[in-house]
Amino acid sequence: MTTNAELQALKERYVAAGAASPNQRFADHARNAEVWDADGNRMIDFAGGIGVLNIGHRHPKVVEAVKAQLDKLMHTCQTVMPYPGYVHLAEKLSQISPVRGHAKVMLANSGAEALENAVKIARAATGRSNVICFDGGYHGRTMYTMAMNGKAAPYQVDFGPMPGTVFRAPYPVPYHGVSDADALRGLKMTMKADSPGTHTAAIIIEPVLGEGGFYPASADFLKAIREICDEHGILMIVDEVQSGFGRTGKMFAIEHSGVEPDLITMAKSMADGMPISAIVGTDKHMDASGPNSLGGTYTGSPTACAAALAVLEVFKEEDILGQSQRLGSTLKSRFEEWQEKYEHVDNVRALGSMAAIELVSDKQGREPRPDMAAAVCAYAAEHGLILLSCGLHGNTVRFLMPVTIEDNILQEGLQIVEDALKSLS
Ligand code: PMP
Repeated sequence: MTTNAELQALKERYVAAGAASPNQRFADHARNAEVWDADGNRMIDFAGGIGVLNIGHRHPKVVEAVKAQLDKLMHTCQTVMPYPGYVHLAEKLSQISPVRGHAKVMLANSGAEALENAVKIARAATGRSNVICFDGGYHGRTMYTMAMNGKAAPYQVDFGPMPGTVFRAPYPVPYHGVSDADALRGLKMTMKADSPGTHTAAIIIEPVLGEGGFYPASADFLKAIREICDEHGILMIVDEVQSGFGRTGKMFAIEHSGVEPDLITMAKSMADGMPISAIVGTDKHMDASGPNSLGGTYTGSPTACAAALAVLEVFKEEDILGQSQRLGSTLKSRFEEWQEKYEHVDNVRALGSMAAIELVSDKQGREPRPDMAAAVCAYAAEHGLILLSCGLHGNTVRFLMPVTIEDNILQEGLQIVEDALKSLS
């Protein structure tokens, strides 16, 4: 067996520095909310591969569906010869996605690829080129999605000029002094100063900022965005790559607001770790571009489609949305205890199980303390827990454990977080 140390030496020699994880434990196998590394150490997983494993590592039903698919067909390229999984999945995603009117679907491989294609579709549908995104937003690492990210370091700074048709507005984060009204004023200013409605193809928003800090936008704000889009014939694209597939206790976070977007992008937790993403949108927009204008060799591969179809069954059979809501309440009550007890813990929040705490100087000053968030995650790693920080200010600790996590394992993990918080004061 190869050890963590041996694998680390190989990584240092052969993996590009920018793509190499600082983590020196190498995952060997996993089940639900636990992972074992190459040396046999067990870790509790509060990251789920960044929100990909809402139904847990290797859900048996998904593993079975993928194995069955492997015995039948692995690849044709769906533009060369289509296969049943793609169209069955398209039908199901159309039925569950709260977009305006009848929804059609395109499948892709990753979140970034979904966003790239959503912009292509919006350009074709409107004949316009610009997009407006938000401070703190995150949409991917391809050339255009990189430009759409509302955080320069580490995503943009090493990579030269960004494509020039991306403009930005403030995301409402009242805790840090940006109210809904401030954010709307900012958006209107962007539309005056940089990208008028006549030139804007899409406004792209995460209903809950993911990488940007787990801040939910209010229903009123999302409704205002919808109205501005309607007034100017702009498409409203909701990026649910992180907030989708049950994380917030509904299938999609936008459902909390009642707003119907034109397009939704989704990826994480769609297929329990198999690489797949989707763009789901109103038919007339999805059909706007010409023949053979969208696609890719591997988009919507048979195995990933089989996994995604199995995931949708698991959602029904195991009441994943209910589990997500219950997990969210458990987390929220524990966070509130921490907020009471520890002076650096504040702005605790959970929309369903999209849950986070913030580490700040103190509850009055609210100065972000990214060093403390990093210390909490480092303590967790040393004590057998995978935990992630995030945020424009880097001071949010986010919780993305499987919603199917066993209660005793959840409590064990939360105790490690509490011990880490205790060690700060
Ligand atoms: N959009 C959002 C909201 C995301 O959270 C992410 C990934 N963190 C992406 C897009 C990009 O997804 P991927 O890494 O699969 O390209």
